[in-house]
Amino acid sequence: MNILAVGAHPDDVETMCAGTLAKYAAQGHKVFIATATNGNIGSAHHTMEEIGRIRKQEAANSAAIIGAEYICLDYDDEMFFEINRETRLKFINLVRHCKADVIFTHNPHDYNPDHMLTSKIINDIAVMIPIAHLKTEEPPYNVVPSIWYFEPANSMGFVPTDYVDITDYFDTKMKMLSCMESQKQWMADNYAQLGGDTERFYDTIRITSEFRGMQAGCKYAEGFVRALDGYRTRLTERVLP
Ligand SMILES: [Zn+2]
Repeated sequence: MNILAVGAHPDDVETMCAGTLAKYAAQGHKVFIATATNGNIGSAHHTMEEIGRIRKQEAANSAAIIGAEYICLDYDDEMFFEINRETRLKFINLVRHCKADVIFTHNPHDYNPDHMLTSKIINDIAVMIPIAHLKTEEPPYNVVPSIWYFEPANSMGFVPTDYVDITDYFDTKMKMLSCMESQKQWMADNYAQLGGDTERFYDTIRITSEFRGMQAGCKYAEGFVRALDGYRTRLTERVLP
């Protein structure tokens, strides 16, 4: 299968589903990681252009660890707010490029507007992938991908419907996250729960993975909610690794 994980920012996908993506890759599936924005506000020191370039390189380095292809749609961070014809076609083209069978994206309810819009647009365009009259550079293919939501960073209100045992891939997940070097201090300074401690971010990821593992009956797990929306969802098909 072809697997596509779409986050709003470089580091979103790594935080919440890198273990699952590493597992897919190890099983021989083709994995793509995409971001809507280039994360170009994620620094108090670099210019927007510099930090956007740095974060795209970090995301590409992270994807390379599992042999995944990284694609950035290059919207401005926190200014990704409009769904129009151009946006839809850009996302349709992305999914067609990846020939995705399965898509992971943000939960529709989240603390960040870029996250919620990314989730909405993926939901909007999934049914449009096979439609020939919607012309994009990449040709249509005859699949409506199934969509899975990964959990928000604070996990608030998120109750997984399914779990993936990532025990054997937890180290890979942390290695992928460690590529996001530019974000360590930024997150420590901007997220109160990290208390200024750059290592605390990694603790929160470990705690979440252990908590989901406790629920799933393994050491480390990632939890997901399957998007249930009419005929696009093939409930009889087991697609998680
Ligand atoms: Zn984000």
